Amino acid sequence: MVAPLTPLSVRTHCPYCAFQCGMTVSPALEVRPDATFPVNRGQMCIKGFTSADLLDHRERVTTPLLRGPDGRLGPVSWEAALDFVAERLLAIREAHGPEALAAFGSGALTNEKAYLLGKFARLALRTPHIDYNGRYCMASAAAGQNRAFGIDRGLPFPVGDIAETKALLLWGSNAAETMPPIMQWISAQRAQGALMVVDPRRTETARAAELHLQPTPGTDLLLANGLLHLAIEDGLVDEAYVEARTVGFEAVRQTVLAVHPAHVERLTGVPIEKHRRAVHLLAEAESAMLLSGRGPEQQSKGTDTVVAFTNLMLALGKVGKPRSGYGCLTGQGNGQGGREHGQKADQLPGYRSIESAEDRAALARVWGVDAATLPRKGKSAYELLDALGPAGGIRALLVFGSNVAVASPNARHVGERLGALELLVVCDAFVNETAAAAHVVLPITQWAEEDGTMTNLEGRVILRRRVRPPPPGVKSDLEIIGALAERLGEGARFRFSSAEEVFAELGRASAGGRADYSGISYRKIDAQDGVFWPCPAPDHPGTPRLFAERFAFPDGKARFQAVRHRDAAELPDAAYPLYFTTGRYKEHYNSGAQTRRVAALTEIRPAPRLQLHPRLAARLGVAEGDELLIESRRGEVTFAIAVSPDIRPDTLFAPFHWGGKTAANVLTVPALDPVSRMPEFKVCAVRATAVAGSV
Ligand code: SF4
Repeated sequence: MVAPLTPLSVRTHCPYCAFQCGMTVSPALEVRPDATFPVNRGQMCIKGFTSADLLDHRERVTTPLLRGPDGRLGPVSWEAALDFVAERLLAIREAHGPEALAAFGSGALTNEKAYLLGKFARLALRTPHIDYNGRYCMASAAAGQNRAFGIDRGLPFPVGDIAETKALLLWGSNAAETMPPIMQWISAQRAQGALMVVDPRRTETARAAELHLQPTPGTDLLLANGLLHLAIEDGLVDEAYVEARTVGFEAVRQTVLAVHPAHVERLTGVPIEKHRRAVHLLAEAESAMLLSGRGPEQQSKGTDTVVAFTNLMLALGKVGKPRSGYGCLTGQGNGQGGREHGQKADQLPGYRSIESAEDRAALARVWGVDAATLPRKGKSAYELLDALGPAGGIRALLVFGSNVAVASPNARHVGERLGALELLVVCDAFVNETAAAAHVVLPITQWAEEDGTMTNLEGRVILRRRVRPPPPGVKSDLEIIGALAERLGEGARFRFSSAEEVFAELGRASAGGRADYSGISYRKIDAQDGVFWPCPAPDHPGTPRLFAERFAFPDGKARFQAVRHRDAAELPDAAYPLYFTTGRYKEHYNSGAQTRRVAALTEIRPAPRLQLHPRLAARLGVAEGDELLIESRRGEVTFAIAVSPDIRPDTLFAPFHWGGKTAANVLTVPALDPVSRMPEFKVCAVRATAVAGSV
């Protein structure tokens, strides 16, 4: 039973994942789920319930910190900190050019912050090098959907549609752990239809399904192509739909038919009868959805894998039909909006391309600059971090809301690159692992102390509302960007009195773009419980469902593209004989920079456990709680183990929420997808050795 809203409670949203649960917060910072918000409908997970614990946390930074001659971070005034940062930025730019400066944003930033940070990088720093941690999260799903549909919105329909679809295939998403309240929709679906899960682990989500396909890590693309092969062979293709609404199927037909199902079965390790059952359930249901998570996307062929999914669903004639289609379950809180408004190396606001002359001209008009002065495409997230230091050319980095030292692949190397910078500025509420390496830490507001908009996994733009004033000594990212822009001589373009004013400019900048927010206002979001983009005019209601009539290409047709399986960048061999894959726990969020400070969460999950199969444990001579030294070609980590039959015997799993000695990303490989530039977090090769004394 959800308690009624007290008169002074504020309706806002959880600061963590893309489900963006509606919640109310009282003046005493009591958090309750908002029963009236149509996405979570009164449910939340433990992270949301405990989100206010960080507001008055004893480790919170409430004054700027500057590294002194003794090598320690010590408090300084805002004036001193901002002057120091601006002077260093100007000096480095003068000596080495604007490309020696870089900014790194986050899928946790509000739309207003993401927009202003992109503008700041291009106009005030004048650098092409800005990217964000959404590159690690959403980039392959985005690239795949853009290729197939001409537009990228995580879900092209409201989450409520999930409950009504007759066949649901969740591919590489452990939604029961990563966004538990979505399970109310999935359970409703399961009660009236078929639920299938593809995952190398038998997760909590997989246990809820009637069919679980457990492929070898890195073979998702092959499996998807194999399903389409069987669909063609068994006459399940919707030829009329393919003819009317798509182009390019013939090349795909030939490509998938060239691969024999027995080969697919051998490489994926999934019995062929399961392939056939899955594709028949999808094809023969009156409505069907395929929703993907990070499993298949965080691979060096993630974009092609998403294209294989869209190929399959287009061939079955499902995309754009009621309660049907392909979607991805966005991860970070503003993973959707964060990729639309210009903090990505290749993008301008409104999902415009930084390399398009037309898009550059449209934005230059809004910003009042000459389009020729706008920088071109910069380096993607990992490539940017890899280029830090004199040898790589980037000497100063500003980080907003991202713990790159823990969240990046090949994390030890990234830590070394951060250490090579002449200036590292981190804007954060805590001294996380990245801030610990900074020359300057600027303390920022948290979610309950600011207004702004977020865009949830459905493409619904929602309002984050201020619950209380920030503590003295803390500024919002918007204020920091404005203050630095003043010192860099570009202040006039960054003077805003509120987040709402920034949003109004964002709306103008997005007008006519693919993610058109120009018809959205704070008032309208309030009145409609969120507005789905595109919303191109004040009297436009927003667009909850896409593709019913046309896709976002000039001819209105979706694109098939032939994609072929290729091996992961690293496969097990004699020296490193096991697969290693990463994921999440219910109690922690991303790099754990916030959730590792919440006592209620760390009491349940104080440390990571390496999951391995009993047969592998027996072979290695270890038992529950013993320690294993895990080595990859990039580093080594020692984990306590959790023995479970829920994982394949050839695969090890660890969560990536911790840094330091248990940082899973020390092991992961920085092989990048050639299109999305997303790293291959989900597959690398390791070896395991029992730690003497622990067994
Ligand atoms: S973390 Fe996600 S699922 Fe959990 S309460 Fe927050 S928004 Fe909801």
